[in-house]
Amino acid sequence: GAKADGRNAVRLFDGTLKAAAERRSQIAQALQRSLDGGGFSLALQPKFSLRDGQALAGVEALLRWRDDELGEVPPAEFIPIAESSGLISSFDGVTAKLVSDLTQAWEARGIDLPIAFNLSAATLSSVKGAFLGEVFLRLGLRPGRTTIEITESAIMGHVSTAQADIEGLVKAGFRVAIDDFGTGYSSLAYLQALPIQEVKIDRSFVARLGGPEERGSIAIIRAVLAIAEALGLETVAEGVETEAQLAWLKTQGCHRAQGFLFSRPLPVAEFEERYLCTAARRAG
Ligand code: C2E
Ligand code: MG
Ligand code: MG
Ligand code: MG
Repeated sequence: GAKADGRNAVRLFDGTLKAAAERRSQIAQALQRSLDGGGFSLALQPKFSLRDGQALAGVEALLRWRDDELGEVPPAEFIPIAESSGLISSFDGVTAKLVSDLTQAWEARGIDLPIAFNLSAATLSSVKGAFLGEVFLRLGLRPGRTTIEITESAIMGHVSTAQADIEGLVKAGFRVAIDDFGTGYSSLAYLQALPIQEVKIDRSFVARLGGPEERGSIAIIRAVLAIAEALGLETVAEGVETEAQLAWLKTQGCHRAQGFLFSRPLPVAEFEERYLCTAARRAG
């Protein structure tokens, strides 16, 4: 009857919440362990120019984590847990070190490809941007060729301090991109207020192109591209999955694109084999 159904629903709900909480605490513990143990690597996703014959324009490095017990845990699951358990700065440090090692290995082989990586806003707000910039330089990251991606939603909460911190990174010579732009309920005016070089249009807008609800997304993407153009910011569309989305973004003057249509994020060796073989051979 209805009563039994209700009880079952409550039990199901309780069970689901409990399982989620357990998984979270398992991950939090494993994350703590992993900081000594390792299990980290980078996945690389290429970014392509939409202007000059779709040339490879750079790469985004995404953190991958494999725990002995939990297996591969996606960043969408472990990054928020690292953030809420105060570990995120350590993970951002892991990423920065891996990116630095990779760029140095590439440099030794004569490979000169711009690289981007993600930085949590929690890290940016807990460590002053100027200091962070120095740390990154000392780590061996190459200013001018390295872009730091920071999500828009994360910056929103503290725009004025974010402004100073981003300035610190930019003064050290790094490019800064606003990631997932359009999801954070912030105003387009922030694009002018922040000393950034690049805007990445969130994939939720790109995903709606060609669908029944595309009108709003079309308007938003156009507005972002227009403002970015006026401010001299580089634009990147993320999550491009279809030829139609790509074609439309080109007509709108978007500078770059990234997405499964071109390539999923790849393990470093696979990325090198697919995209850098000729460059490496020429250099080596
Ligand atoms: P993001 O920086 O916006 O990275 C793009 C995410 O979208 C990646 O997921 C990528 O695999 C996925 N993606 C790329 N193209 C497509 C597409 O065409 N379709 C679909 N459906 N998805 C696509 P991933 O690697 O799981 O990363 C998720 C998020 O985790 C990243 O979003 C970023 O915010 C965060 N993250 C990843 N690595 C790091 C890191 O080292 N540090 C920090 N703080 N955050 C990281
Ligand atoms: Mg990113
Ligand atoms: Mg993004
Ligand atoms: Mg995203």
